[in-house]
Amino acid sequence: MVSKSKKEIRVRIAPSPTGYFHIGTARTALFNYLFARQNGGVFILRIEDTDLERSDKKFEEDIFDGLKWLGLEWDEGPVIDTQSQKSRQGRGSPEAAKVKSQNYIGKYGPYRQTERLDIYEKYINQLLDKNLAYYCFCSKEDLEAERQAMMTQGLAPKYSGRCRTLKPEEIQEKLHSNTSRIIRLKMPESKITFKDLIRGSISFDTGLIGDIAIAKDTRTPLYNFAVVIDDYEMKISHVIRGEDHVANTPKQIAIQKALDLPQPHYAHLPLILDSDRHKMSKRFSAASLKEYREEGYLPQAMINFMALLGWHSSPEQMQELGFSPDREIFNLDELVRFFNLKRVQKAGAIFNIDKLNWLNAQYLKFLKDKDLAELLKVKNVKIIALVRDRMKKISDFQELAGSLLNPVDYSFELLIWKDSPKEVILDNLKESLRIFSATLAVDFNQESLNKTIGLLAEQRGKGEVFWPIRAALSGKKNSPGPLEIAEAIGKKETIKRIETAIKKLSN
Ligand code: GLU
Repeated sequence: MVSKSKKEIRVRIAPSPTGYFHIGTARTALFNYLFARQNGGVFILRIEDTDLERSDKKFEEDIFDGLKWLGLEWDEGPVIDTQSQKSRQGRGSPEAAKVKSQNYIGKYGPYRQTERLDIYEKYINQLLDKNLAYYCFCSKEDLEAERQAMMTQGLAPKYSGRCRTLKPEEIQEKLHSNTSRIIRLKMPESKITFKDLIRGSISFDTGLIGDIAIAKDTRTPLYNFAVVIDDYEMKISHVIRGEDHVANTPKQIAIQKALDLPQPHYAHLPLILDSDRHKMSKRFSAASLKEYREEGYLPQAMINFMALLGWHSSPEQMQELGFSPDREIFNLDELVRFFNLKRVQKAGAIFNIDKLNWLNAQYLKFLKDKDLAELLKVKNVKIIALVRDRMKKISDFQELAGSLLNPVDYSFELLIWKDSPKEVILDNLKESLRIFSATLAVDFNQESLNKTIGLLAEQRGKGEVFWPIRAALSGKKNSPGPLEIAEAIGKKETIKRIETAIKKLSN
């Protein structure tokens, strides 16, 4: 039997580079990515940069950095190779083109709306020619007065449609005289209903929306218009995006209808809420992915955490597979396997930083010492092994191990155990130095040192021997044990630090 050919799954993430890559947008990227991967589909990155005033290359870079860090590679776009880079350079600044291409993850660059103006223009002209859109020359002041008047009458404000009936000569004259203008869609008065894959059926009365602006002029499309054209041209099958776009959907469907374009499926993801159940704001938690990256969270933990912002695994499925029914730890591959758009909740997703911290600690535990060393760019794996259990975040490493890697200055008092006399401590350090020096480098490990230094401690008192060694080796009040540190930093460095301590006490 020939199977019915299934429509290809094609999804996109369409960030506007008007701020640092937002956690919510990163989650949208993840859900789109998972949906594409589990359906053998295509995941597209489209930079929505038509708002020239607010768009900034630095935010664009941050989107690339973020996706790269998370490992969410997109599957399509302008090909990056020396050839295309050259042609890019022809159009823009050479430096910019070079830097940008370094930040892409795979073979492709992103689609950028500002590079697609010809496409939008074609469709805007179509609507104008068919009289389904029209030029509006109303001034900002007129529109504001209209708005106020409607509001005082208790009506929801919308454009009156005043310019709908301008005569062709009037339009031409105003266009020639450079009167400021926008292009509006003639919104039919009807009901638009769409089935949201997460939220169910949603209806809007377009009569309440009025004639929306779709472009500033034929080469300057506005958000709703550009999205519709791109989703169509890019053959997007499913629009998966944040709930804040629900209200845009009827506008976009109206544009599709006017142009006779097919309608994609829609799925609107729940808002991300702060622990006080308000929309996530900078006041309570860092809202950009960059901040978490810089704080020292692992990308694996962030991926897992974001997946749980609105989605939970199916307890039955988990149990069938022999996992705990409330399993929450999933790596990217497992998410591709288990994620299900149908299980995304409607209610807002609470951003729980404790959960992120917990997940991060779990993923840190999964890392091998040598992988962690690579991540931290530290050569001494033994030092990593010493402190890793106390790390919650990558950024904790410096605090825990900084002074083990590079000795810090400290005052001689740190070396004194309780109220032992200075001379006793000095003598113990000298004797320890003698033992350390006499120990062969091959035997310079905890086990052997425990026999020799350990014996000294038994004879002279644990605190009186171990404390000053530990303080001398770590330069800090709190640290791993003295012999562990000695083994980790090695014979030469141990001797050097003990000598420094002896000097401090002798002064
Ligand atoms: N550019 C929009 C944003 O940054 C997303 C548009 C969409 O997903 O349809 O929120």
